[in-house]
Amino acid sequence: MTGSLIHLHNVQKKFGHTTVLDGISLDVRAGDVMAVIGPSGSGKSTLLRIVNQLEQHDAGLVAINGEKIDAATPRRQLARIRTQVGMVFQGFHLWPNMSVLDNITLAPRTIRGLSREQADAQAEQLLARVGLSAQRDRRPENLSGGQKQRVAIARALAMEPLAILFDEPTSALDPHLSNEVLEVMADLATTAGVTMMVVTHEIGFARRIANRTVYMQGGRIVQDAPTDTFFEHQQDPDILKFLSHT
Ligand code: ADP
Ligand code: MG
Repeated sequence: MTGSLIHLHNVQKKFGHTTVLDGISLDVRAGDVMAVIGPSGSGKSTLLRIVNQLEQHDAGLVAINGEKIDAATPRRQLARIRTQVGMVFQGFHLWPNMSVLDNITLAPRTIRGLSREQADAQAEQLLARVGLSAQRDRRPENLSGGQKQRVAIARALAMEPLAILFDEPTSALDPHLSNEVLEVMADLATTAGVTMMVVTHEIGFARRIANRTVYMQGGRIVQDAPTDTFFEHQQDPDILKFLSHT
């Protein structure tokens, strides 16, 4: 669809004989913050991994900024498209034996071709944005979980992606550490206009920040609605039950 940064049409994914995504269609446009919620095992992580092509889909269409990607896409083109979609995981995935600064500057230097000076200057701006300027020379092991996740967010931003995918970014964190990460994400969404897909159990956060909310169950999108409508006029009994348990 024109204007979509992320376009999926009738995407199917099986693991062995199990259908994990069963005809997923969605569009994410510039500036959208899409919350993806639903029960465990409904296919949320697989959906994000297919958008980023960490997994390949079996059928259907995936296009990033109008470029179709699938198993036949040449590796170089795939690598380029992948840099346009950042990913932040539950488990941080930082490089353990590098400083915070180097974690952020490695890919901009090696993939975007920035000089060390350019990459350092950009990283320092991003560290200020996520509130970690004082941690620039530390190793990840010396950071709290909330600080690690904020480094991971800064690292994703350093590639200047079209969109960032978040897979339960706060579910490994204590509530107060979750909040500092959610505040950074809220700032990016509302002040910086960063386009996001956010898989989350933080329903209050979804409600506050997302402009669209998608509910998945059994590998399908059961509902894709403006967030206000989703929460204020919800009629679906399964969704109401899910919301009452979170
Ligand atoms: P969610 O993130 O909503 O909890 P997932 O996308 O992780 O759901 O998983 C959806 C289903 O796919 C689950 O039944 C899970 O066991 C299965 N699954 C996920 N990844 C794999 C894999 N690599 N191999 C086999 N099955 C998988
Ligand atoms: Mg998951």
